Amino acid sequence: MSRLTGKVAIVTGAGRGIGQSIAEVFAREGATVIATSRGSDVDYLDGRPGLEYQQLDVSSDDDWQRVVGDVVARHGRVDVLVNNAGIITYEPVHELSVEDWQRVVAINQTGTWLGMRAVVPAMLAQGAGSIVNVSSIWGSAAVAGGHAYHATKGAVRNMSKNAAITYARDGIRVNSLHPGFISTPLTDAQAPDVNEYVVGQTPMGRAGKPEEIAQGAVFLASDDSGFMTGAELVIDGGYLAQ
Ligand code: NAP
Repeated sequence: MSRLTGKVAIVTGAGRGIGQSIAEVFAREGATVIATSRGSDVDYLDGRPGLEYQQLDVSSDDDWQRVVGDVVARHGRVDVLVNNAGIITYEPVHELSVEDWQRVVAINQTGTWLGMRAVVPAMLAQGAGSIVNVSSIWGSAAVAGGHAYHATKGAVRNMSKNAAITYARDGIRVNSLHPGFISTPLTDAQAPDVNEYVVGQTPMGRAGKPEEIAQGAVFLASDDSGFMTGAELVIDGGYLAQ
């Protein structure tokens, strides 16, 4: 229970689902966790043991500059960033509105870039850092519909590889995490037939748990994965092996 002792970690979308589990498991593993959300989850996050709450909309560069500036001022460093916040839409190419396309890109893709852009200067200065970008199995495989989601998760996958190569000699590691179907408020809100289909197509025949993703995030964040960068960690019950 000490794989992240001494590390300062920022987690986005930490108020529920996978992000909540990542924040809790990181704190259990000894990290100082800056658990961020847009603001709707303050009651859950504020004052939890091991978690410091900060309001952060990942699509706002002003929010990123404020939060990272505050973390560096108070803690002197940022060791880990988990870009977890994300949204989904289900429309295929011809039914997707320009507004929905831009909203998904702003949060899933631009938000991931803004986060990396905000923390990299501190990581360069300290000569170390681990960035974990949450993509999806839909970042490298397709299911019908959900065009904007697939586009942005594919972008997160390749943005991670570019940043990994760019900063490989600076001590900064960047990896992407690819969950399969995980039981969270996001999937609870999906049409039951969509969920039954994806779980039915999953070789292990069940949904994953948020903590099963959080354990992968701990590995990528920790020094245990010290020779790993530009890699895709797939945790999907075997989905992509088919
Ligand atoms: P979730 O339950 O819907 O949680 C998403 C979190 O992201 C919420 O806390 C939400 O906060 C936050 N968020 C959304 N827009 C934001 C913004 N602009 N700024 C800051 N936070 C924002 O989803 P989840 O299932 O835990 O998914 C977490 C990540 O895993 C996402 O990137 C998702 O694409 C990915 N993923 C999930 C699955 C799955 O099966 N569940 C599979 C593959 C990948 P608000 O309350 O403010 O909306």
